[in-house]
Amino acid sequence: MDAEPIPTRDAGLDRLAAFLPRAGAAYAAGRNTDPGPERKGAVSQLSPWLRHRLLTEAEVARAAFAAHGEAAAKFIEEVGWRTYWKGWLEQRPGVYDLYRAGLRRAENRLATEEGLRRAFHDACAGRTGIDCFDSWAREIVARNYLHNHARMWFASIWIFTLRLPWELGADFFLRHLLDGDIASNTLSWRWVAGLHTPGKHYLARAENIARFTGGRFDPRGLLDEAAEPLTEAVRPGPALPPQFDPPPSGEVVLLLHEEDCAVETLDLAGCTVRAVAAVAMPEARARGGVAPA
Ligand SMILES: Cc1cc2nc3c(=O)[nH]c(=O)nc-3n(C[C@H](O)[C@H](O)[C@H](O)COP(=O)(O)OP(=O)(O)OC[C@H]3O[C@@H](n4cnc5c(N)ncnc54)[C@H](O)[C@@H]3O)c2cc1C
Repeated sequence: MDAEPIPTRDAGLDRLAAFLPRAGAAYAAGRNTDPGPERKGAVSQLSPWLRHRLLTEAEVARAAFAAHGEAAAKFIEEVGWRTYWKGWLEQRPGVYDLYRAGLRRAENRLATEEGLRRAFHDACAGRTGIDCFDSWAREIVARNYLHNHARMWFASIWIFTLRLPWELGADFFLRHLLDGDIASNTLSWRWVAGLHTPGKHYLARAENIARFTGGRFDPRGLLDEAAEPLTEAVRPGPALPPQFDPPPSGEVVLLLHEEDCAVETLDLAGCTVRAVAAVAMPEARARGGVAPA
């Protein structure tokens, strides 16, 4: 990340204002290139604020459109991926249960299979011998952020070259990413694996990595570029749409949590807020809790 993100709405608004001049054609042209953690890329790095709803997708998209009109389409489309993933998982909570069950199975294997345990620890510590992968593993741990294209390459190498259970990689991301989100993360890993769109997986290619890292890496000959997509026996179908209580009235206590810090968007007309409480349960997000930033 550019600088350690300050977890306030004001800091998010400052980051948005600084990024807005680049939210049009410059974003569309440069968003796939990862110039490395030391150099400024074309992406916004707004994800920690969006993830906790200190900024909302709607206001960020509106600001980009106001600044660039149609030229902001690519940026707005990307912001929309978050909205899509959240809604998709909300309607299919069983897919998250499936991930958690897979994670428990993978943890059991770690306890009993020494080779797998060693390979897993080497991957997390950046000791696989695949230069780009090792560098990204260290970057996530040190900076709690990774460029989108690097996340795709990383997840693909984890699954198809290192042959590690994808659930352990998703958990590694949730443990370290400041924007770690159960919908965007679980479903992006499933998408790379070929489980979200059955039969269609994302294979990292050495040529693509060399091109979009500006030649910083060239893992030619090190990647499995012919692996088959993962498959699964069952996929839970959509659940009934969630039912929402009507907005409260009278005296209320506000309970804030890390999924939604956008108090401004709550319908509090007719309410008198008597107290505000906050709860944070980062340990529920990842195996063993989240790592200190
Ligand atoms: C394996 C994998 C795991 C991921 N895990 C997460 C996660 O835990 N949390 C998370 O917020 N994003 C996740 N992403 C999506 C994406 O990589 C990040 O949102 C993005 O890199 C954040 O950087 P940015 O703010 O500079 O993005 P920008 O390119 O500037 O995009 C602006 C905003 O749009 C949203 N966005 C952009 N691309 C995506 C996308 N593909 N999916 C969902 N939202 C997107 C984010 O809120 C982002 O902040 C994951 C992607 C992959 C491939």
